[in-house]
Amino acid sequence: MRKLLKQVYGRARNAMPASSHGYMTRMAFILGNKPNVRTDGIDPLEKFPNQEKGGLIISADFEMAWAWRYTKTGDDHLQKGQAERENFPQIIRILEAYDIPITFATVGHLFLDSCSRGDHDWMSRIPHFDDHWQFTEGDWFDHDPYSDFRADPEWYAPDLIRMILDSKVSHEIGSHTFSHMDFSYKNCPAGVAADEINACIQAALPYGIDLESMVYPGGTWGNIEVLKKNGFKIYRKSCDFELSYPFRDEHGLLVSSSAGCLEHNLNYGWSADYFLGRLRRYIDKAIKTNTIVHLWFHPSLDSYFLRNIFPGFLDYAARKRDSGDLWVGTMKRIAKHIENNNIV
Ligand SMILES: [Zn+2]
Ligand SMILES: [Zn+2]
Repeated sequence: MRKLLKQVYGRARNAMPASSHGYMTRMAFILGNKPNVRTDGIDPLEKFPNQEKGGLIISADFEMAWAWRYTKTGDDHLQKGQAERENFPQIIRILEAYDIPITFATVGHLFLDSCSRGDHDWMSRIPHFDDHWQFTEGDWFDHDPYSDFRADPEWYAPDLIRMILDSKVSHEIGSHTFSHMDFSYKNCPAGVAADEINACIQAALPYGIDLESMVYPGGTWGNIEVLKKNGFKIYRKSCDFELSYPFRDEHGLLVSSSAGCLEHNLNYGWSADYFLGRLRRYIDKAIKTNTIVHLWFHPSLDSYFLRNIFPGFLDYAARKRDSGDLWVGTMKRIAKHIENNNIV
């Protein structure tokens, strides 16, 4: 039933002019009594490290030019990479101001200082596909500049990885595949997935980073076996509900359901107050239902959000944390807590 309603809503939304999408999203939020919750029978006192009532995870899809090189949105991928660089110090600072650790889901190529033609030739190449991104010719090898982070700072980011590791907040560095690959079973053969993950592990090694959390690029999902084999514990996924406590998939990996994005469409015409109210409602409902709200953003986001949304949102989360109601942490941290205490 919910699926059918979703389809009807999606069709109606597409038929409306773009200017009314923000209004429709607001209406759906109210009428759907959102955020929706996945209930479970776990003892609430066991769920969080300090017996908090609910949790907040924030993840950042750290990808620079890699994500945007083949989008249909028309965004300039180099500009996106540059915007990410400009925002980065601000993002690190604001997370420090509120002492909020997050999971940076990082494209593996960004770990590299440099690379040369031939360095990646051991990696399998994907077949072409023409849905979603209309990826009909070439592949990421064509975009790789085969240079270094000084010459092409949109494609390598060892300095930004260091910035994350040097922060006084203990952030997590997770994976977003090596080349921002569509990781679905349909489009990504297991051999390609295995090479992508191996390349990430090798690139992260010099930093002493163990990759345990995955955020799939572009809302794709698949090749769980490859993640499992390589020691990954948890991944983010869009589900039919916004709030949940992590649960196991059929392979035994933990699923952290996505509650949505910290950048709404600026064309929606939402005020900062409305958006902040919406985010507070997510946090409050997570506390009330003993679940986790997992929100995410692109570091290339419009700086409007860093100035007008992040301070109010992080301040609210920090106050709820300081009063003992809200656990705030990374994907890896909650996976460890679940494993250590045998919770799910
Ligand atoms: Zn390269
Ligand atoms: Zn991405």
